[in-house]
Amino acid sequence: MVLMYHNIAREEQQIDFKEWQPAYDVSYADFLTHLALFRAHEQARARLHLTFDDGYGSLYRLLWPLLEKDRIRCTCFVTTAKIGAAGMLCREEIVALAQAGVEFGTHSHSHVFLAQLTRTQLEQEVLVPQKILADLLGKEISTMSLPGGRYDEALLEYASVCGFREIFTSKPGHEPLVSSKIPNVRLWPRWVITADSTTTELTRILRESKWHISKSVMLHQLGKLGKRALGNTGYHFLWQNLQYLKTSFRSGKDTS
Ligand SMILES: [Zn+2]
Repeated sequence: MVLMYHNIAREEQQIDFKEWQPAYDVSYADFLTHLALFRAHEQARARLHLTFDDGYGSLYRLLWPLLEKDRIRCTCFVTTAKIGAAGMLCREEIVALAQAGVEFGTHSHSHVFLAQLTRTQLEQEVLVPQKILADLLGKEISTMSLPGGRYDEALLEYASVCGFREIFTSKPGHEPLVSSKIPNVRLWPRWVITADSTTTELTRILRESKWHISKSVMLHQLGKLGKRALGNTGYHFLWQNLQYLKTSFRSGKDTS
């Protein structure tokens, strides 16, 4: 079962990445609670795969020390144009994390949605980041996660030709999907973990609660309908503003 994290936050942060959403930051204290929950669910823990999108620098400072104790499979998906930017992983940190056992995959070059792209854009956003990471780590890169969870068949075909074998989506669920047209690429569902995720929710995921799966799939479908009605950009704009309102509301509440 695959969980999708973004940034782990402990203190004030300076992050030069316009797609950064503080509502997706999980606090360090909450992350420690999550690790304790994983330890308490021995069976689920063996199948657990933690993924971290975008490539935040905090992963080097906060995640690495924890990996020594908790041998859980971890993958970072890096937006390669932002390597070395303020608050993002730099080349040396990526290499150090890889040596510590963290796996690496791409998350596009510049965080565009990987749907409806021209051939040149596909090259720039799929092949270029793969080459950057492969050169840096001296190994083949065959995994990617999708910015905004968006993709289409052209992306799957192109990714397959480039040697990608596992693509991580933002759809909830436990088992990977394989499209009959592109059988050598597995599409992995992921459980999105945000600042708002509760331990009850996480426990339901770890126990593979049928009710929780149905509810999450239904909410995800509603989101997809919203995207269809407003278009990708309109939906993303609305979503970003809702996240902004939520974050402002929360910080207001915290200080009162
Ligand atoms: Zn992202």
